[in-house]
Amino acid sequence: MRRMERQGKRKEAASRLRIRSAKTLAVALVAVAILVVSVIAVVGLVRSAPTPPVKAPKESLALAAPVASRAASVTAGAVEVPDLLGLTLEEARIVLRAAGLVTAVENGGATPDENKVVTEQEPLAGILAAPGARVKLSLADAGDASNVPAGRWVVCIDPGHQANEDTSPEPIGPGAKVTKQAATAGTTGVVTGIPEYELALQLSNNLKSQLERRGVRVVMTRSVNDVSLTNAERAAIANRNRADLFIRIHGSGSPDPQASGVITLYPASNKWTKPHAATSRKAAAEVQRAIIAETRANDLGTAARGDIAGFNYAKVPAILVECGLMSNPVEDRLLASPHYQDKLCAGIADGVIGFLRDGQEN
Ligand SMILES: [Zn+2]
Repeated sequence: MRRMERQGKRKEAASRLRIRSAKTLAVALVAVAILVVSVIAVVGLVRSAPTPPVKAPKESLALAAPVASRAASVTAGAVEVPDLLGLTLEEARIVLRAAGLVTAVENGGATPDENKVVTEQEPLAGILAAPGARVKLSLADAGDASNVPAGRWVVCIDPGHQANEDTSPEPIGPGAKVTKQAATAGTTGVVTGIPEYELALQLSNNLKSQLERRGVRVVMTRSVNDVSLTNAERAAIANRNRADLFIRIHGSGSPDPQASGVITLYPASNKWTKPHAATSRKAAAEVQRAIIAETRANDLGTAARGDIAGFNYAKVPAILVECGLMSNPVEDRLLASPHYQDKLCAGIADGVIGFLRDGQEN
C-alpha cells in the first residue's frame, strides 16, 4: 500500500515535472522571441540613426544642457559654474558632477560634514569653465554666520576694469543699438603708476573683508586682474546671485590735475533700470554720505547715468563708486595707501550696511 502510494506520487511528480518543463520551455521561447525582436529593433535604430545611438553615460547627458543653453554666445563646450554657496560638501559635489565639473576642497576639510557649508568658491557662479575643470571650495561651520540676520544679505562687488582690454563692442543695454567697448583697463595713477584695475581690486578685497566681518555674504565678479569679463557679464553675476546690492568700485581721472574727490553713480531710470532705479539712487546717496563722513574727501555728490552697460543689464540695485581722481597727485598717493584704503572701505561698508538695514525696515 505504501509502496503503491509512493509509486503513484512519483508518477504524479513526474507528470508535474513534465508540465513544468513544458511551461519553462514556452517561457524560454517567448524570451528568445522578445530578445530577437529587440535585437532587430536595435539594429534598425542603429541603421536609421545618422549617428550611433550613443551609449551615453548620465554625466554627459547632464552636461549637454548648460552647454546647449549658452551655445550661441559662448566657447564651444564651456560649462556655466553653478552657485554652490551655502551648500554642504555632499550637495556641492552632486551639483558639480551633474555640471561635468570637478570638486576641489581648498580648506575646511574634505570629509562631508552636515554642519559645514561652502563659503567661497572659485571660479564664481556664472563664470564659464571648460568641462572637467576644478572648482575650488572653502567650507566653514554653518554656525559661523549666527550673528547674521535670517535672510542673509548678499552684496556683489565688481572691481572695475581688467588687465586685458576687450575692444569688441557691447550694447549699452539689452537690445540697444548704441555700443561701448566691452572691457577696458581704465586709467593709471599719475604718480604711483598703479593701474585702475589693480587699485579697484585692492579696494574691493578690502571692502569684501569689511562687509564679511559684518555678516554680509559677498560675491566678487573677479578676484584676479587677468580675466575676460564684459560689463554685461559682471551684471549677470550680480543678477544670478540675486544680490541685494551690486557695487562697482572704480578710480577715475580728470584732465585737471587739481580736481579731486569721490562721486557715486547710479542708474538713470530707463526701460531696463526702472524697477530698481529709485532703490539704487538711495543706495548711492547713503554710500556717498558715509564715504565723505569717514574720509573727508572732496564731495562730488551722486549722479544718474543711463549709458553704463553694467547698470542697464543689472536686475538688482546697482551703484558705482568713483573712489578718487588718480590724475591728482595727492589723491593718487592717498588711494594707494593701506590706511586710506581702510578708511575709504569702512565708509563704503557703513553706507552699504545702512542701505541694507533701511531696505529691511521698509
Ligand atoms: Zn573706471
